[in-house]
This record gives sequence, structure tokens and C-alpha cells, in this order.
Amino acid sequence: MDYRGRVISATLIWVKDKLLSNIQIKIGTDGHIEAIGECLAEQSQVIHFRNTVLLPGFINAHSHAFHRFLRGRSEIGNTGADTFWKWRDNMYKLVEDATYEQLKTFCKTTFDEMLMAGITTVGEFHYIHHGNGRFDLDEAVIDAAAASGIRLVLIETLYCRSGFAATDVLSEQRRFQANVNEFLAKIDVLEAHSKSNENVTIAVAAHSLRAVDRSSLQKLWNMTNQKKLAFHIHLEEQPKEVEDCIEVEGTRPSQFLRANLPINERLTAVHCTYTKREELDELAKAGVNIWFLGDGIPDLSEVDTICLGTDCNNRLCFLEEMRWLAFCQNMKENRRNIASLNAEKLLKISTENGARALGLGARVGNFEVGAHFDFVGFDLESPRLRFVDENDEMLDAIIFGCGNSEISIVGVAGQTKFSNQRKN
Ligand SMILES: [Zn+2]
Repeated sequence: MDYRGRVISATLIWVKDKLLSNIQIKIGTDGHIEAIGECLAEQSQVIHFRNTVLLPGFINAHSHAFHRFLRGRSEIGNTGADTFWKWRDNMYKLVEDATYEQLKTFCKTTFDEMLMAGITTVGEFHYIHHGNGRFDLDEAVIDAAAASGIRLVLIETLYCRSGFAATDVLSEQRRFQANVNEFLAKIDVLEAHSKSNENVTIAVAAHSLRAVDRSSLQKLWNMTNQKKLAFHIHLEEQPKEVEDCIEVEGTRPSQFLRANLPINERLTAVHCTYTKREELDELAKAGVNIWFLGDGIPDLSEVDTICLGTDCNNRLCFLEEMRWLAFCQNMKENRRNIASLNAEKLLKISTENGARALGLGARVGNFEVGAHFDFVGFDLESPRLRFVDENDEMLDAIIFGCGNSEISIVGVAGQTKFSNQRKN
């Protein structure tokens, strides 16, 4: 269904931090919201999303789409095979012969599944660049997003070396490797290319401090700031990364980052599982976005600007990501309210904060004039939402009580990309 050029309404719509009834949204022919109000058009001219709660589409700030094809091989719980590094070997094998067609299939399959989970924007942290030609696999990600209809922020990722003391990559990392000058030239090309497609924007990443040397890191950062692009990096995900950094650089990765870059709100630090609270406070002071969740429970606080992502895509349910974020913290502290992770805040983390981390600002993440009309609808006829008070309890019931099966419709830029009319 195409809602561009039309006025829509729903039973409840999330506007200005509240679920409101009797709201209409006028969508421009380009998929942007032109007006929001109670009486924009005669009722007979309005398209009604009946028995539906409409929220802004979820924003997935961190994904490696191809990892989804390791589903069934997580080896979680298996003795002798349950370290991150063993899993990483399996992941490398998956793409050792990657071609454009194969990577496009991997990405398209995962992006389609994301849409079914209410995710309308994905930040794809992409580092498998070279198939048969230099950087030909970048096009595979862009083309897969276009084919699925999801909004893409291609987080083009620099990977230079295999570890802190290394000057080259391992043979199995050849497809990732670029030098910084070649990489910067590629960013220019991708940016020019994306100008013709409103659903694709470019961000950059240094894969991690172990994979990018100091001089390349600084060059990349400077270019990013000149161009005002978002900048992401995996940070302190595993103890070995922290130990190796201390051994070679004499300092923890988070301290190294702050000492070598004038960090600001364009930076998103991914994981921070082993980052000390005092270092997280320094990142928070600089306005840095933090993407948590991984093989451990980070030390979270009210001051952190958190966003969410699906990383290895083993399970694609954004509502579960929100709940994991809250429940992990509660279990760690044996109490219920850590960092005010209530339904409203978890929705903000999953929408506005994701947009901020991906450099999209107010273009997505909210229903407001000028933003893209990207949306996820929840089915009020679901048994799981029966007897819930529509005014006071509905958002809490959706965030903490629902799953993908309550999602009835998902759209990007005013066009339906997923619809599920099945009733439970
Ligand atoms: Zn990652």
C-alpha cells in the first residue's frame, strides 16, 4: 500500500511522547510528513489503520547482516567452543569466498526479516568489502536494502590490521582490508552515489582499535568531522582487546580513544562491555552514543545516551532487544528500576537515539513534520493486547508484553514494506 499523498489515521498514534487518538497525519508525495493534526481532511478522505497502534519505526543502530547465516551455529553453551574468538573463526569461513550475489542474498534476507520486526532503518556496520573486485561488495549491501525497502545507513568500515601489534591482516581478513587513503576516496564515491537515493546515507567506522592504527584512526576521524558524518567503533567488547591494548599502548582502549581523538556526539561506541564506569562518564560528557549488549552486562547509568542494535542477528525481535537491555540491568542490581529504563525510555532508545547515532537527526525516529513517514503498527485485536487500557497502559503492554507476532504493518517513507493480516 502506498500512503504518499494521502492523509492517514490510526486508533492510537505516538505523537510528542504520548499515544493519542483522533490524530491524522498528512504524507507528502515524497514520503515525508507534511502535517499532523486532528482535522486535516474529511473522514471519508482519510485512510484508517483500524485497531492499530502506530509507532515510529524502530532504528537498528548496529548490524552485521551476513552473521544471520550463522544462525544455528551460535555454539552458545557448548564447552570448548563458546568463546567469541571461536565463533569469529566460523564467521570468517562464511564469507571467505563471498561474491556480490551471495552477500546481496545474505543482506536482503536479513533486511526482510528486520522489517518484519518493525525495524525501518538499519545501520549496517559493513567491513566485507572485496569480492571479485575492490569494494564491489559495498554495492551488494546497498542493492539489498533497495530490494527489501529498508532504509539503510551504510556504516562503511575501515579494517587495516589483525591486532594492536600487527601491520597487516590475516589471510582470512583480506576481503576486509583497505588503507586509509583508498578508503577515504571510496567514502567520497559512496556519498556521491547516495545523493540520488533518499533511503541510503553513509556513515563511517573504524572496526576497532585493534584493527585500525592511530594515524589512520585520526585521519578517518578528521574527515568524518569535516563531512559531519556519524562515526562508529567497536570498543572494549572482549577482555582480550583490553589486555592487548594495555600491553601494546600502555592504556585501555577507551582511554586511548579519548587521548587520541577530540571525541564528540558524532561518535558511537559499540559494546563497552568492559568499559569502566568512570570512562563511560567521560564518554557521556562528550555526548557519545553507546550501543550496549554483548557477551556481558555493561555498567549502565542515567547519563548514557544509549541506542540499540541487533549485531549478529541471531534473533530479530527489537522488542526483545529493549527488554534484554532493561532486564540485564535489573538482574545485575537485583532491583527493578535501573537508569529509568521504562517503556517510554526504551522506545526513545529504539527510535530517536538510534537516529542520532546514525547521523539521521530528526529525519526519522519520530512522527513530526519534515520527518520520513517510517512506521510500525501493532494489532489491537491480538489476544495479548486485550483488556489493556488504551490511554495509560498501552505502550508498556507493547514493549514488555508483545513480540513480532503483534506487528501488523510496517512502512518506510509512506509505503508498506511488510503486512501481516494473520490473527493469533
Ligand atoms: Zn558488531
